[in-house]
Amino acid sequence: MEPKTESYIDDHNPEVQGIKGIGPKRVEALHSIGIYHARDLLYYFPRRYLDRSTIVPFQKMYDYADQIVTGVGTIVSIVIVGKDKQRLVVTLNDVRGVMECVFFQGIKYWKTAFDVGEVIAVSGRVQVYGRKPSMVHPDIDRLSDEDSVEFINTGGIIPVYPSSEQLEKVGLNRHGGFRKLLRHVLQEYLTCLEEFLPRSIIAQYSFLRIEKALHEIHFPRSHDALGGAQQRLKFDELFLLQLQIAYQRRTQIEEKPGIAFTIENERARKLIASLPFQLTAAQKRVMREIAADMHAAKPMNRLLQGDVGSGKTVVALVAMLVAIGNGYQVAFMVPTEILAEQHFRTLLSLIQSEAGLNDFGVRIELLVGQQGKSRRTPLLGNIANGSVDIVVGTHALIQKGVQFHKLGFIVIDEQHRFGVIERAVLREKGLTPDVLVMTATPIPRTFAMTLYGDLDVSTIDEMPLHRKPVKTVVRFEENRVKVFDFLRAEIRKSHQVFVVFPLVEESEKIDLKAATGEYERFREDAFREYRIGLLHGKMKPHDKDEIMRRFKAGEIQILVTTTVIEVGIDVPAATVMLIEHAERFGLSQLHQLRGRVGRGADQSYCILMTDRKFFYGGGERTQDDRTMLSSTRARLQTMADTTDGFKIAEVDLELRGPGDMWGTKQHGFPELKIANLLTDQHILIDARREAFRIVETDPHLRTPEHEPLKKIIEPLIKNAMSFSTVA
Ligand code: ADP
Ligand code: MG
Repeated sequence: MEPKTESYIDDHNPEVQGIKGIGPKRVEALHSIGIYHARDLLYYFPRRYLDRSTIVPFQKMYDYADQIVTGVGTIVSIVIVGKDKQRLVVTLNDVRGVMECVFFQGIKYWKTAFDVGEVIAVSGRVQVYGRKPSMVHPDIDRLSDEDSVEFINTGGIIPVYPSSEQLEKVGLNRHGGFRKLLRHVLQEYLTCLEEFLPRSIIAQYSFLRIEKALHEIHFPRSHDALGGAQQRLKFDELFLLQLQIAYQRRTQIEEKPGIAFTIENERARKLIASLPFQLTAAQKRVMREIAADMHAAKPMNRLLQGDVGSGKTVVALVAMLVAIGNGYQVAFMVPTEILAEQHFRTLLSLIQSEAGLNDFGVRIELLVGQQGKSRRTPLLGNIANGSVDIVVGTHALIQKGVQFHKLGFIVIDEQHRFGVIERAVLREKGLTPDVLVMTATPIPRTFAMTLYGDLDVSTIDEMPLHRKPVKTVVRFEENRVKVFDFLRAEIRKSHQVFVVFPLVEESEKIDLKAATGEYERFREDAFREYRIGLLHGKMKPHDKDEIMRRFKAGEIQILVTTTVIEVGIDVPAATVMLIEHAERFGLSQLHQLRGRVGRGADQSYCILMTDRKFFYGGGERTQDDRTMLSSTRARLQTMADTTDGFKIAEVDLELRGPGDMWGTKQHGFPELKIANLLTDQHILIDARREAFRIVETDPHLRTPEHEPLKKIIEPLIKNAMSFSTVA
């Protein structure tokens, strides 16, 4: 046996330029989709399959009218027929029958592509009008070709690969091109793979071995074999991900002891006593979970989930006061400036006594990108010398110039807008601080396991008692007069109203004009006698501040705004959320917007304005139109039906598909090639259990059985780490 040196691996997993049939142009095209080595090609999975496993003698073709089947025969003639509309007819014979293959396009090519006497297999839809059965532009395999007598385009379950314009240009099309290449790579390079799953797991789940699974995923011999390959490869993908999570978490725990906070704390107790409400049972429970983590000497990494308005901020503040009481500083990172300002004020108001004094002896400051140097320099100084206790800020917090004296506790709000990387960078600024991540976007459990796989999860699953669910309705243009009357009636009760317009990035300017124009119309016409304000992201921070202040103070009765209002804004007297062009918002966005009302004791309302045609349909022409309609209707209906954030998140995932959940990989969501977090939940649960069990019993993956696993995941982890130190 040859020893397994680097060169052994290189020989068997060569770069793509070393593979037969891949010239410089193809190399470039393959690089553009991240394929560098033979192994990457083995893991370039078909997008879907065509079932051509039914092989039918030509005589029997009449029984298969309009179905897709495969036939095999010898070419007996190749002729061009017709005058204006020319076509090429290739006639095939088999033992007892005849069939014609008809080509309308590429006649010149096809005419010379074949020879009479050649044996070919053809797959396509059978047409039976005319004298002989026929297929138009069938897929073809040459069976008398000397070096490849095999079925790759016909006669079985046939892979269809993802392709692109660039790939098509170099002959790597969805069909023949990739099939031929993959067939070759499978023949030559499957040996570049070692089995890496422990034997016990393979046995327990009756998995195919890796070479077999890869073979069957590309050229399945049967539906069962394909199913088996998919099971194995999905498991692999999720298992390796979970193994990384488990392994990393383990090393974190071992390498760096965290802070063991003393939990008993005068300030925290005082805060709880001073609240004008009772904490809910759920708030108390998560506080205990957080306290236990803080007390333990390992660094806390906890996700605090809770729907909008469930009272996460208070919980976080209690934890912050504990940290401060132990002599540490706190950083509170949020995604937008408006939210930073809001949180800053909320925290201030919570720790200020009625006399307006800060009688907790805590110093809070705000750090955002917009601040001028004259403000920023002394602020940075005070953060560095430790005289600031809590810094609330945006991304500005993770910039190089920001240094803490003794950062021991980090709160990150609305995590889905930050990546794992930002979390890591901020953590680096501290002394193995405890980290509490808060999110109001409820995530189904299996998603949390992956996206926040390294976090423990606490959930506030209960709303403050007095809170009434927001009543939600869908209304159309023809109801507008009534809707406006309703707004006036609410305002008469000293309530306030949000009117939200969509602001979509591509058409931001036009949208903004629409919002601004509508605001003017409100002022001059429908709501002449009311106090109206306009708030949008393009305004100067100072102006935004002023508008928000006036809205909170009740001076503004109707706030016309865009999605800047989406997160965290807390105005208890606001009871109506009117959303214009509701069809243009995503489901989770609608849910977040709705969360801006229903924060006081009075009944609140969410009115989704849209056009009748977006709800009931009319004028759809294409399948895309119909898909769009049913998705829009589902979003609006779901909003009307439920206020349960978890249910909403699940519907959202179904409608959008997990890939689109948060737009990009940047948000820390791993790119999955074959597994689907929504439909493969049971595989994920198995994979996670096995991965964590392995790390539990063999934390450093040192046993021979786990060595191949270590070889796979260590480079991945290193990669992720070096990525985070760059930022
Ligand atoms: P979240 O951040 O989870 O969206 P907040 O912490 O902003 O929610 O709380 C929303 C509002 O409810 C705030 O005005 C807060 O003071 C109030 N609140 C928090 N906990 C309770 C409770 N247990 N009972 C009543 N009101 C509460
Ligand atoms: Mg909040």
